[in-house]
Amino acid sequence: MPQIKCSVTECKWNNAIECQAPMIQVDRNGAGQAEKSDQTKCETFKMSS
Ligand code: SF4
Repeated sequence: MPQIKCSVTECKWNNAIECQAPMIQVDRNGAGQAEKSDQTKCETFKMSS
């Protein structure tokens, strides 16, 4: 897994602004084709408890 910098610190996989998940899944954020990064989303996000 390459280093992934992620600022979503409330995710349970996040440690010191870095993703620690063994694999992540990223999908389009809505229908059709993404044209900008904000039209994608991390599906592996999980709220930390
Ligand atoms: S799983 Fe997604 S949201 Fe969570 S730390 Fe990794 S990249 Fe960020």
